Amino acid sequence: MTTVEVPHGSRSVVLRVAAVIAETADTNSLVFDVPDELREKFEYKPGQFLTLRIPSDRTGSVARCYSLASSPHTDDQPKVTVKRTEGGYGSNWVCDNVKAGDQIEVLPPSGVFTLKNLDEDLLLFGAGSGITPVMSILKSALARGTGKIVLVYANRDAETVIFANELRELVDKHQQRLVVIHWLEPLLGLPTADTLATLVAPYTGYEAFMCGPKPFMDRVHDALGRLGVPRSRTHAEVFNSLAGDPFADQAPVEVSDEEAADAATVEVELDGEVHELSWPRKQTLVDIMLAKGLDVPYSCQEGECGSCACTVLEGKVEMENSEILDPEDIENGYILGCQARPVTDRLRIQF
Ligand SMILES: Cc1cc2nc3c(=O)[nH]c(=O)nc-3n(C[C@H](O)[C@H](O)[C@H](O)COP(=O)(O)OP(=O)(O)OC[C@H]3O[C@@H](n4cnc5c(N)ncnc54)[C@H](O)[C@@H]3O)c2cc1C
Repeated sequence: MTTVEVPHGSRSVVLRVAAVIAETADTNSLVFDVPDELREKFEYKPGQFLTLRIPSDRTGSVARCYSLASSPHTDDQPKVTVKRTEGGYGSNWVCDNVKAGDQIEVLPPSGVFTLKNLDEDLLLFGAGSGITPVMSILKSALARGTGKIVLVYANRDAETVIFANELRELVDKHQQRLVVIHWLEPLLGLPTADTLATLVAPYTGYEAFMCGPKPFMDRVHDALGRLGVPRSRTHAEVFNSLAGDPFADQAPVEVSDEEAADAATVEVELDGEVHELSWPRKQTLVDIMLAKGLDVPYSCQEGECGSCACTVLEGKVEMENSEILDPEDIENGYILGCQARPVTDRLRIQF
């Protein structure tokens, strides 16, 4: 039994696990109770994730992100789905230890892998545990949207298919709108860019979302690229583990008079409001927005989760770590606010 009485930082809360669902032999879902006073804080968009604080004797804790597999439009309670990573610490800890009634410290929903228009026709790709955010998007679009949906879902074998029954029921219920293509390795081998391109060629006008291991995503990107699907219509969620501690409150950053005098100026648009801020060169965009009390979206602060992605409309930044962004994203002005420091004197940035 895990109990956590008090959250470790001002952004996190402690939630009770209402139920644990064994989805497959190596995957468990955790369903959370969200008390009324936290309902607003835990409103989420299909495709977003929660960050869990997982206890560790060695390091005190580790932080791990898990996508919400539930839909805000069809499920009363948020649910994350955790697949064991071989030799991994956090995922095995969750699957071995968490029981109904336990308490877990979490950060509120975050992430930009979300569906803006529920009525779009959707071409979805999921592999293994990468189905989780895709499932939330799929269920939401079926419940509230009007478009057609094609899901290509790759797995090692039939036993490891997460949400197999739920998908079958959804296909039965939405026969005119949903097609699910199960790509099982023992039958078809690993998907290649060629075979994927042939498979999805009829759906190039659809908005594409993908999540899965890197080699799978590389092939999907390649296939869509060959078919001429514009990068602006493809969205990818990268799964990796956080190294730092996003639960700890951030100490205010000291700025010397010299640094203040040399600061850049940024006009940053957040939730439709424009704020003009002074941006000392050594600070990140997230740092300066937090210092001004703005509700900037962020989580890991390491350039690994993508929560703070935003677009540079004018000016230039440099980033210490931008690995999760594709070169095309960067060309299109996408940056990570937690990694961005100003290069030019004036900038305009939009969240
Ligand atoms: C946005 C996002 C969404 C995600 N969504 C999902 C999802 O829906 N489902 C899913 O299954 N995964 C998801 N992931 C991946 C997930 O966050 C983890 O990366 C994954 O579960 C593997 O974590 P792990 O700790 O088991 O493995 P690893 O990260 O590989 O574990 C090994 C690491 O743990 C350290 N370690 C080992 N033992 C200890 C110890 N005792 N104490 C402290 N550290 C130790 C090691 O040094 C090593 O760094 C998502 C990731 C992101 C970024």
